[in-house]
Amino acid sequence: MIGEYYRPDSVEKAVELLSAKGGNLRPLGGGTHLSRFQTDLQGVVDLQSTGLEKIKVAGQQIMVGATTCLDALMETPNLDAEITRAIRLDVSKNIRNMATLGGWLVTSDARSAFSTVLLALDVTLTWEPNHVQVRMGDWLPIREMESPGVLLTEVEWDLRPNLVFEYVARSPKDRPTLIVAVTQWGSGRTRVALGGFGPAPIIALDGPEGTGADVACRDAYFEAEDAWASAAYRREVAPKLVVRCLERIDAMKGSEA
Ligand SMILES: Cc1cc2nc3c(=O)[nH]c(=O)nc-3n(C[C@H](O)[C@H](O)[C@H](O)COP(=O)(O)OP(=O)(O)OC[C@H]3O[C@@H](n4cnc5c(N)ncnc54)[C@H](O)[C@@H]3O)c2cc1C
Repeated sequence: MIGEYYRPDSVEKAVELLSAKGGNLRPLGGGTHLSRFQTDLQGVVDLQSTGLEKIKVAGQQIMVGATTCLDALMETPNLDAEITRAIRLDVSKNIRNMATLGGWLVTSDARSAFSTVLLALDVTLTWEPNHVQVRMGDWLPIREMESPGVLLTEVEWDLRPNLVFEYVARSPKDRPTLIVAVTQWGSGRTRVALGGFGPAPIIALDGPEGTGADVACRDAYFEAEDAWASAAYRREVAPKLVVRCLERIDAMKGSEA
């Protein structure tokens, strides 16, 4: 049951409400998670009238407001097709129409291809109050313990790098048990994120080039054992997927030249 319901018409008012009341109010994005898993809420601050659903492109940067629903994000011109593929893999059209980017980042687990891809892209999150900017890779490991603010307002990333991901699932409609996402910038900087195991995706490599990415993936998932796949399987297959990703990026660079 929801005790109190607020629908502020600005980010400032939302932040004020979330900071007051002893911090007992929760932001409400699309409600797809809150309505399923929270049985007793003191109150919610509905973000739908705060104007946070905007998508801006400035130069090579994209800034996506936290209340943008996943379906609207998929419609963005020039959005990397791998992001669209990842979102489509994670959730159906109905949920994409409701779930917001902010809600997704706060709740999704390691078996989300979309979150693994965003981690590989090294996205920056903006939190209020005080406009605190934090890299997703720094925030994810402490997501359950401390928050940089009361409200995630924006997610920003670079549109230039090549991005690919590969995954394994038990069936085409099942959630992945292993995800490898690779981003490579023009400088050669290569960032590899692994998903499919644990509470959140992790970084296996972030270096000046892709050399050693296979070993890094094997080491990062060396003990990645759960009910869905053995550690032996994950440490054997993750290196193969990352090599496949790097080959795909090489092919993309070849066709761009
Ligand atoms: C059918 C179905 C399938 C799903 N499949 C997957 C899947 O494959 N992989 C996966 O990882 N997840 C999956 N999910 C879970 C999904 O990640 C969440 O339901 C969804 O992303 C939550 O988004 P929302 O906007 O509805 O958030 P809400 O339900 O509104 O909120 C979720 C949490 O985020 C907080 N929050 C929301 N917005 C903000 C903000 N701007 N700032 C700070 N905190 C905020 C809320 O307070 C709450 O704690 C699935 C959910 C459903 C219903």
